[in-house]
Amino acid sequence: MSVNLQTPIDYLKGVGPNRADLLRSELDIHTYQDLINLFPNRYIDRTKYYKINELQRNNAEVQVIGVITGFREVAQKRGKRLVADFKDDTGSMELVWFRGQKWIRESLKTGKPYVIFGKTNWFSSKYSMPHPEIELQTEHDNNLRSAMQAIYPSTEKLSNKGITNRVITKIMQQLFLDTKGKFVETLSDLVMRELKLISKSDALFNIHFPKTPELLSKAQFRLKFEELFYIQLQLILKNLIHKSKIKGFPFEKVGDYFNTFYNSHLPFELTNAQKRVLKEIRQDLGSNAQMNRLLQGDVGSGKTIVAFMSMLVGLDNGFQCCLMAPTEILSVQHYNGLKELCNKLNIRISLLTGSSKTSERRKIHENLENGNLQILIGTHALLEDKVKFKNLGLAIIDEQHRFGVQQRSKLWHKNTSPPHVLVMTATPIPRTLAMSVYGDLDISVIDELPAGRKPIKTVHRFDNNRLKVFKFIKDEIAKGRQIYVVYPLIQESEKMDYKDLMDGYESISREFPMPKYQISIVHGKMKPDDKDYEMQRFVRGETNIMVATTVIEVGVNVPNASVMIIESAERFGLSQLHQLRGRVGRGAEQSFCILMTSHKLSQNSKTRLETMVRSSDGFEIAEVDLKLRGPGDIMGTQQSGVLNLRIADIVKDKDILEQARYYAKSVLKLDPSLGLPEHKVILNTYREMSKYRNIWNYIS
Ligand code: ADP
Ligand code: MG
Repeated sequence: MSVNLQTPIDYLKGVGPNRADLLRSELDIHTYQDLINLFPNRYIDRTKYYKINELQRNNAEVQVIGVITGFREVAQKRGKRLVADFKDDTGSMELVWFRGQKWIRESLKTGKPYVIFGKTNWFSSKYSMPHPEIELQTEHDNNLRSAMQAIYPSTEKLSNKGITNRVITKIMQQLFLDTKGKFVETLSDLVMRELKLISKSDALFNIHFPKTPELLSKAQFRLKFEELFYIQLQLILKNLIHKSKIKGFPFEKVGDYFNTFYNSHLPFELTNAQKRVLKEIRQDLGSNAQMNRLLQGDVGSGKTIVAFMSMLVGLDNGFQCCLMAPTEILSVQHYNGLKELCNKLNIRISLLTGSSKTSERRKIHENLENGNLQILIGTHALLEDKVKFKNLGLAIIDEQHRFGVQQRSKLWHKNTSPPHVLVMTATPIPRTLAMSVYGDLDISVIDELPAGRKPIKTVHRFDNNRLKVFKFIKDEIAKGRQIYVVYPLIQESEKMDYKDLMDGYESISREFPMPKYQISIVHGKMKPDDKDYEMQRFVRGETNIMVATTVIEVGVNVPNASVMIIESAERFGLSQLHQLRGRVGRGAEQSFCILMTSHKLSQNSKTRLETMVRSSDGFEIAEVDLKLRGPGDIMGTQQSGVLNLRIADIVKDKDILEQARYYAKSVLKLDPSLGLPEHKVILNTYREMSKYRNIWNYIS
C-alpha cells in the first residue's frame, strides 16, 4: 500500500495528538509531506566522541562517554535544579536538569556508562551540559551513527516539551519506513540527465540521513535547484500568460510629439543606457501585449526623461498618460520639471495632489473625462475613484517601493482595458533578487550616469572632528552652496531621536547664527504644510542648511545642494545611506557626503561605512547590503512570499538560481503550455503546486 503524503501527521507512529499539535503550532507541520520537507539546518558529526579534558569554551555540541557518580538537588530562585556529576578518565563535568527531574532521577543509574550529547556551558570553573540527550552506551552502540547527523529547526517550546532533535529524527525515520523511501519524481528526465541530478527519493533520503558528504551535497543541490526551478517557472509562466491574455493598447506609431521633442527640445544628449531602455519600452508599447515593466536606475541616472518620452509615445497614439509619485514634494517637482517641456510642445498637463483645491479638482476631473487633459501628474490622489480618464494608455509609477502591489493594480481598473504600466525605482535590486521577486515583470536597467557628473566625495568622520566639519560647511556656504544635515529616525527610539535632532538643530543654530545663515528644519512631527513651506524655502535657495530626518530621502532635487552630512551614520542601512547621498551631486559642482559616527562601531557598521566610502555604484552597494542583511529586509521585498525559501538561499545560491531560471526559460520556450510528454512531470507538479500552501507542499 502506498502512503498518502497528505495524511495528517497525527497518524505517524510516535507522534500522537499532543506532539502533532506542537508540530503544527511550532513548525507548521500538518502532513507527512510537511515533515519530509522539514530540511535540516545543519549536520553534526555523531561518530566523534570527546574526552572531558578536550572540551572547549565555545558552547559547541559535543558527545561524551562517561558515568554518573551521583545526583544532587540544588535550590535556586524558583524551584530547584537536578545536577548529576558525570566523569570519564580525564575529568568531570555536570549534567543539569531544570524540568522533568523526577523522571530523570528514576530512570538514570549511577555507575553505568552513558553517552551524552548536547551543548556545554562553562560555569563556575566547570563544564556543564543542560538537558543532555542521554542513553546507555550499550543502546547507543546498537544504533547506526552518522558523521553527518541532521539537526532540525526547533523552537524553545518544542525542546521544553521534550521534542528534541532525537525525537524528530526518530519520527523522520518512521516516515521513511512507512513510505519505503519512495517519492514521486518531480523533475523531467532531460533536466535530470543534463544536470546529473540524483532522484527525488535519493535526495530526500540523503538530506535527512546523508550516507556520504558527496551524497549530501548532491541532495542539497537537487533540492535547491528544484525549489528555485519551480519558483522561476511560476514567475515566467505568469508573465507569459499575462502577455498572451491581456491585450495592451498597441502604440503603433511614433509621431510628432516624440519626434519634435527628440529633434528640437531634448535638453541633453541621452546616455546610451537611456536610449537602450527607451527602445525596450517602445518595443513593449508597440507590441500587442500590455507592458508591465520595472525600470531600475540609480539615483540621478535620469529616469524622469525616459518616463516623459514614453508618455510622448502614448500621446502620439492619442492616449492619456499619468505619472504617480509617493509624496507631494516629488509630484510637484515632477510637475514643475515637465510643465516647461510640455509648454514647448503644447501638451496639456496638470497636477493633482491631496492639497489640490476643490475647484481645481473639479476642472481636472472634467478635463480628464472629456480627454482635454493629456498628462496627469500626482500622488495617491490619482487613485481615487472620482479620478476617471477618458483613455488612459500608460501609467508610470515613480519610486515604486512606496506603493503596494494593490495600488498598482488599482490603476488598471481605471480603464476598460489595463494601461501599460511602467514602474520606476531607484532602489537598485541585485539581479538575483530581482529575478526572484519581480520575475513576472520585465526589467530594464539604466546602468550609466549622465556624462560629466563628478563623483561625490564620501568620507567618514568621527564626532570629535565636528568643528572641522563645521568649518568645511562654512566654506561651502561661502561659495554659495547648500547643505543637508540628516538625523536618523528609528521608530523604536523615536523620543531619543527627536532629542538628537533638536539638540543638533540647536548647536547648528548657534554655530550658524541668523541673519547671516538661514536654516530649514523638516521632520515627521511637523504639519504637512509647515514641512512643505520649509522644504520650499530650501528648494528656492532661501536657506543655507536643511536639518532633517530621513523625510528627504526620496527623489528631492536641489542641484545647488552639494554637501550631505549624515549624523549617526552607523544607524542607517546601506541602501538608505546611498539614497541619502543621492540627494547631492546633482549640479555641476563637486559634492561631498560626510558620514558622522562615534568611535563605537560594530563590524557590520564598519563594513557599511567602508562600502559607502569606497563605492558609489548602487548595484554594488545593494549586493553588499544583501549579504549583510539577507534578502528579507531589502526594501519592498518583505511582503514577498517568493522569498520564503525552504532550502535555497538567494544570496549564496545565486549560481543555482541562474541555472534554474535558464532551464525554466528553455522548457517554456520549447513548450509554453507544458504539453509535451517529456514535460508531463513538470506540468503535473506545477498544477498541483497551486493547490498547496507553498511549493514544497507539493514538490514531494
Ligand atoms: P532619477 O533617475 O534619480 O529620477 P532624474 O531623472 O531626476 O534622475 O535626473 C537627474 C538629473 O539628471 C536631472 O537634473 C536631469 O535633468 C539630468 N539628466 C538626466 N539625463 C541626463 C543626460 N542624459 N545628460 C545630462 N543630464 C541628464
Ligand atoms: Mg526620480
